[in-house]
Amino acid sequence: MTTMYRQVLTIALAALAASVTCTFLLMRLNGANDEAMTMALSIATIVPLVVSIPSALFLFRQREKADQLHRDLLAAHEELRSLHEQAVHRASIDQMTGLLNRESFLTKTKYRRRKADAGFLMMIDVDCFKQINDRYGHQAGDGALLAIVSILNRHIRRSDILGRLGGEEFALFVSDLAPEKAWEMAEDIRQSVERLPFQPHEGVIHPITVSIGIAPAPVRERMHAIMNHADQSLYAAKRSGRNRVAYRNPENREKAEMKIQHSLSRVS
Ligand code: GH3
Ligand code: MG
Ligand code: MG
Repeated sequence: MTTMYRQVLTIALAALAASVTCTFLLMRLNGANDEAMTMALSIATIVPLVVSIPSALFLFRQREKADQLHRDLLAAHEELRSLHEQAVHRASIDQMTGLLNRESFLTKTKYRRRKADAGFLMMIDVDCFKQINDRYGHQAGDGALLAIVSILNRHIRRSDILGRLGGEEFALFVSDLAPEKAWEMAEDIRQSVERLPFQPHEGVIHPITVSIGIAPAPVRERMHAIMNHADQSLYAAKRSGRNRVAYRNPENREKAEMKIQHSLSRVS
């Protein structure tokens, strides 16, 4: 027997017991004869059963329905929450590369800068990327971007923030890193991309390179100014022949005097 029927039966028996006991006592007190007692007890037996069983059944059914509605509401709420999470995630991610998009890169960097010490911003731009699209098609261009993204992902640390600013331009924010180390990191990325055997078609190898502009991100400097400085470094790297890392420290040029490698260009 299900719990519900057991509970209905319990209520009916309790109502029956109360009804019969009260009727018996009242009839006895009033000195009722046997015939009246039999009649009264019969009514006291039938009425509570007729009233309590359907009422209890009705109430239990209503409670079951309410419970089911509650469960449905919880499930719908959970589904909505997960859809909302997915939507927020999708809105912050660049669909093609899986990297943060421009807006979420800037937001995440803003929060990181509040907690972290000064860092560096790197702007990474693929050189002559239009050529790849023009020669081998847009799909090959997408393949090249994904290959570069996988190199970038291999070079970053957990605390670094990497995003796609748009098109073939990426941004990397690193903190808790000495200037020389940031420089080395950019140079490693540049060399890894240079070594990439990008094969747009069977039997065709097309060299890919990136230019990287670095700017320091002092705690008090505004983000748009830092982006501007990194942009200037990037364009200096482009001007000086591409496939370069360039660093510009607008506050203290002495700090820009770092180890110069064949591919590095300093910006004054
Ligand atoms: P530079 O060395 O000066 O940066 O030259 P560039 O050719 O890389 O730069 P330009 O701005 O002239 O061209 C960028 C190209 O990137 C143009 C655009 O069609 C292409 N592009 C932007 N986004 C995508 C993308 O998601 N996929 C592909 N395949 N191409 C893209
Ligand atoms: Mg480019
Ligand atoms: Mg560009």
